[in-house]
Amino acid sequence: MMYLFTPVGLAALHAFATGSTLYAFDLDGTLAPIVADPAGIAIPDEVRRCLIQLNSMAPVAVITGRSRTDALNHLGFTPHCLVGNHGAEGLPGEDAADHDFIRLCQGWKEQLKLLLPDMPARGISLEDKGETIALHYRHAPDTGKARGSIVTAIARLTPAPRIVSGIFVENITPRDAPHKGEAVEILMRLRGCCRAIFVGDDVTDEDVFRLGNPTILGIRVGRDEESRAGYYLQGQHEMIRLLREMIALHERR
Ligand SMILES: [Mg+2]
Repeated sequence: MMYLFTPVGLAALHAFATGSTLYAFDLDGTLAPIVADPAGIAIPDEVRRCLIQLNSMAPVAVITGRSRTDALNHLGFTPHCLVGNHGAEGLPGEDAADHDFIRLCQGWKEQLKLLLPDMPARGISLEDKGETIALHYRHAPDTGKARGSIVTAIARLTPAPRIVSGIFVENITPRDAPHKGEAVEILMRLRGCCRAIFVGDDVTDEDVFRLGNPTILGIRVGRDEESRAGYYLQGQHEMIRLLREMIALHERR
C-alpha cells in the first residue's frame, strides 16, 4: 500500500474524482477519532463542515457498523446515503430484507438471554441494533473470560450468524446481509456512479478493499501491510486534508 499524499497517490485520487463518483466513508476511526467509549465519539467541526460541502457537490455515503439512528446523532447532517449495521440496514430497496434481519436478531436475542443468563454480572452488555446485535465486554472484570463465554454462546445460535469481531465487541449479523463491499457496489449501481472512493479503518472495511474492484479506490486510515487497500492515510487527523482535496478537485472541474 502507498501513502496517499504522494504525487502518485494524488494522481490516483484525481483520476477517481470524476463527475460520477460516490464518496463513501466509514464513521468511527475515519470521520471521528477513536475514543475509549464509543458513545463518546465526536466528528471534528472542520471534518463535518467539509463533509456537508462535499455532500452538496457529489453523492456522499456513510457506511457504518452503528445503527442509522445512532450514526445520524453523531453526524449532525444527512448524507445522500446512510447505511448502518455493517451494510445490513438502509440500502435502498432492501426494506423486506431489513425486516427479515430484524426478525433473525430478535430470535438470537432470546437465545442469548438463555445462553448468557448473567450478562451484567459478567460485564457483558447486549446492544440490539435492529439488523445486527453487538455483545460488548469492555467493562468486564476479566475481558478474556467474557469474550470466551460470548464466543461459546454465539457458536450455539441457530441459525448460525456471521461474526464480526471488534475492539471489546463481538457483532453478529445475518449471513445473507450485505457486507460493506456489497453495500458500496449496490450504492454505485443505484446512484449511477462509475467510480467510488472508499475510506475506512475497520476489519469490516476490508470487505470493500478485498473486492479488488478496479472502479473503487480504497484508502485505509492508518498503514497496515495486511490491508488490501491501495492507499493509506497516516491517521484520522489527515481526513481534513483528504476532504479538502476532494472538494478542490470538484471545484476545479
Ligand atoms: Mg471504523
